[in-house]
Order: sequence, then C-alpha cells, then structure tokens
Amino acid sequence: VLEERHLKMIENKKNQKKIILTGDRPTGRLHVGHYVGSLRRRVELQNTGDFDKIFIMIADAQALTDNFENPEKVRQNIIEVALDYLSCGLDPAKSTLFIQSQIPELTELTFFYSNLVTVSRLQRNPTVKTEIKMRNFETSIPVGFFTYPISQAADITAFKATVVPVGEDQLPMIEQTREIVRKFNSIYDEVLVEPEVMLPDNAACLRLPGIDGKQKMSKSLGNCIYLSDTEKDVRTKVMSMYTDPTHIQITDPGHVEGNTVFTYLDAFSKPEHFAEYLPEYANLDELKAHYTRGGLGDVKIKKFLNNVLQEELAPIRARRAEFEKDIPMVYDILKKGSEAARETAAKTLAEVKAAMKINYFDDLDLIKDGPAARRKLMDNAISQLRPGYAKLISDYNRLYEQKAAILKDWREKPSLLDTLDDLTDAVNHGLAQFGYPLRTRDEVRRFVGSGARRLIQRAIP
Ligand code: ATP
Ligand code: MG
Repeated sequence: VLEERHLKMIENKKNQKKIILTGDRPTGRLHVGHYVGSLRRRVELQNTGDFDKIFIMIADAQALTDNFENPEKVRQNIIEVALDYLSCGLDPAKSTLFIQSQIPELTELTFFYSNLVTVSRLQRNPTVKTEIKMRNFETSIPVGFFTYPISQAADITAFKATVVPVGEDQLPMIEQTREIVRKFNSIYDEVLVEPEVMLPDNAACLRLPGIDGKQKMSKSLGNCIYLSDTEKDVRTKVMSMYTDPTHIQITDPGHVEGNTVFTYLDAFSKPEHFAEYLPEYANLDELKAHYTRGGLGDVKIKKFLNNVLQEELAPIRARRAEFEKDIPMVYDILKKGSEAARETAAKTLAEVKAAMKINYFDDLDLIKDGPAARRKLMDNAISQLRPGYAKLISDYNRLYEQKAAILKDWREKPSLLDTLDDLTDAVNHGLAQFGYPLRTRDEVRRFVGSGARRLIQRAIP
C-alpha cells in the first residue's frame, strides 16, 4: 500500500499543473490593502500566462458566517467585488471568476474534511482568534464562523490549487489546509494537492494598515481607502491619515516607522513618482532621511502620497465606470465562471468520494460481488498475511509489557516510541488493505495496554 501511494505521489507531482486559487469576501468594496496584498499580484500572474488555470472566488458563503443576519449586504457586495476585479485587470478570458455559494461541491468537501480537524486545532488558529476578538463573539461564536478555515481548505483543494496569493493574515489558513491535505492523502489516497502560499515580496504590503494606522486595513474596521473611492474621497482620507504623533513642529525630527504615510509610500511609490511630483528628492530613502532629520512637514508627504495613489487608482476608476454601464454582462461573467468552476470542483469531489469509499454506485465490483464473494477474497488475503500479523501481535505484547515504562517517562524513551510508531504504521497499512479503519499513532499509543491485543485479535480472524 505504502509503495503504491508513493508511486502515485511521484506521478502526481510530475503531472502537476500550475493552478491559482484565491478570493475575497463580499463584505464591502475592495480596498487598497487587497490591492497590494493580493489583487495586484493576481493580475500580474494572470498576465504572465505561466498558469494553467486561475480561479478567483467571491467568498459569499464565508462572508455569511459572520454576516448571516445581513444577507442583503453580502448580496449587494458581490457585484461590487466583481467590478473591482474587472477594473483591476482580472480578465474572464484568462481567469475564472466565480461565486462560492454556487458550487455545492464545496460544502460537501467541507463536511468530509471536518472529520480531519480537531476543535482545539481550530481554537489555536491565530487568525480565527484575532477575528473572534475583533467581532466580539466571545463565547457565542457561530459554528460556521469557527470552522471557516475548513471550508477554505475545501475551496483551495477543490481546484487543486498549487499557489494561493494572499496577504499575511491568511498564512495560518493555508497551513491548516496543508495539514488537511496531508491527513486526507495519508488516510485515504493521494487525491489532494498541498498548496503553496504566495505573499507579497514588499514587506509594507503584507498587512497594509488602515488610515487610522492602528490595525490592518479591513472592510470590517472602516479604515479603508477603496479602489472605487472618488478622487476627492482619496484626497480627504490621505490628508486625515495617521502619521507620527511626536512630530508636532515641522522642524521636529520625525519617525518613519509606524508612520502610516511612509508605510503607504513603501507600498505604492516608485522612483518615477519622485521625478514627476517631488523632484527635489531622488527617491524614498532621501525623503525618509529628511523627515527623520526634521524640517519636512506632514502636509507635503501627504500631498505626495495623494499624487501617487491617484496615479495608481485613476485607471482603475475609469475602467470601473465602463463596466458599470453593463451590469448584466458582469453577472453573466460570474454565472459562466461559476459553471466552469463547478465542473472542476465536481471532478475533485468524485475523486474524494472514491478515496473515501463512498462511491457505492460507481463501484461495479462492489455491486456485482456481494458480501459472500468479498468475504472470501478477504479471507484468502488474510490467511496469506497471518504469519506477519502473528509477529506484530507478539511485538505488541512485548510493548504491552513495557507499557509501565512508556507511561512513566516516554519522553526519555524515543526509540521505544519510534518502534511503536513503525509498528502502528505497519499495522495500519496491513489493515487498510482490507478496508479496516486506520488508527492514528496517538490512538495506538492509547491502545498499548489492555485494548491492543484484543483489537488486533478481533481484526484478524
Ligand atoms: P473582512 O473584514 O470582511 O475580513 P478584509 O478586508 O479582511 O475583509 P478579506 O476579503 O478577508 O478582506 O481578504 C481578502 C484578501 O485580501 C486576503 O488575501 C487578505 O490577506 C488580503 N488582505 C486583506 N486586507 C489586507 C491588508 N490590509 N493588507 C494586505 N492584504 C490584505
Ligand atoms: Mg478578512
């Protein structure tokens, strides 16, 4: 079993396509944090043509986990997010834009994956922790919200994504997905693909702060500059931005760290911007040096940032205005995208179900043979394996005798535990061939004791 699995793993790696999946929650229009954290990258990756498939998901089902009382908000923001996508340059001819809730296969996958994740593992997820605090859920956390990392694993794996371009806050989610993939593949079969995260290379873009300078820019916190803000809105927001509270007089030395305006300049400004709007400085380092020395006022750096942002946002705003003229066409793009995405997800779900042995009606052998024939087949195979199992049982017996030692101080007996783990794996692989449920190493550790011998004897007639 083990070898077959490894061969499959190698084969899968060889044929692996390059696939992107990422998305956003329709809880508001998209903001410049999304833009530098993920959106800008997606468009670049799309246009390289290096990827076999690109899936961009509007995560409405996920948005409902903490907005279930507000369905109209989620509904209205779907089109807003779609317009933001198109105006940033995501192109439906190159990327599949779709709506999460329209792919029922994703909820099925979520349900099956939820067996592979413990409550305590979810509680340890740092992003979920922060978000629970942010939303004041305290003890009344909706189960759906609590388990959204599992549904995110379903989204990513349904499309066999290899690359997920996201902001830093999503790291724990991708890690959780990778764990689910490994667990699924080791228990059932090599079906799922472990995704890699792709973070922005520019540190300022990992987690762009809001204009209040306090937390990350987030729709839920109302501290955003939206991609669709008017020129005037952007200017007002930039001029109100948090800077350095100790920089009172222009002549005072200022701090650039933790100064939101400079963080934004790190994220957005290019050397060309200096030539155009602030020719007295060659680059950002010179500007920072002057600010740190003292003698450079906040208004001047804010005006510069405003120019930089306006230059970046103007074409986006203009394209948005064009797409807004034909909203039915935008819905049509989403509908076609959802249909295409559903086809892919359905294929993966079928593989998942086959691996989990819940594909009864597709398994012609199962239907044809009936229980008697199957039992005979199993008896034959088991009788061939019996000598091997006899040894395993005696090994288990030996370990049983050493149980007291393990319990007393297992940390100092790594070799004993290794042996136990090897045995566990061996037993598991043997039993798996006959469709017996697999045991985790932890479980087997617990079985070493009164249960172990009985368990194995019962399993092997
Ligand atoms: P919500 O408050 O509803 O969670 P949000 O503003 O956090 O909304 P999401 O839809 O959760 O936005 O995030 C979509 C993507 O944008 C994710 O990849 C996330 O990492 C990225 N992102 C969101 N905010 C920022 C930010 N301030 N800086 C960098 N990336 C961000
Ligand atoms: Mg978020």
